[in-house]
Amino acid sequence: MTNITHAREFDALDKVLRGRRQALVDEIHEDLLKTDEHRAALFADGVRDLVDESVADLIVDLDLADTDRDLEELRDVEAALARVSAGTYGRCTQCRQPIPHDRLAASPTAERCQPCQAMHEKTFAHKGMPGL
Ligand SMILES: [Zn+2]
Repeated sequence: MTNITHAREFDALDKVLRGRRQALVDEIHEDLLKTDEHRAALFADGVRDLVDESVADLIVDLDLADTDRDLEELRDVEAALARVSAGTYGRCTQCRQPIPHDRLAASPTAERCQPCQAMHEKTFAHKGMPGL
């Protein structure tokens, strides 16, 4: 068994993720500029250089719906890139089985295999429902 093919496939996805991250950062940056020039000045450099959790939290605190959505996706992208660095990308974070490449190609930030994702969504949906 060789991992070379997989490494190349992940390399392509890694590029997709990095491109997506840049697009999101630019979008968030623009949103902030439009919304509040003074705040944008405060956050812009930090967002452009390194989007860490604390910067992300600060922006969420601004309560901007559009930026919020972009930020959520950016967090997914960041998490996926972190998994690439850690060498765990392409494996389900729940059952540790390899995630089918088709799924990753369609959704590069997928962190779970299909069965685990379905289970996760079911569990998550139940949280919002009243108990017995
Ligand atoms: Zn799984």
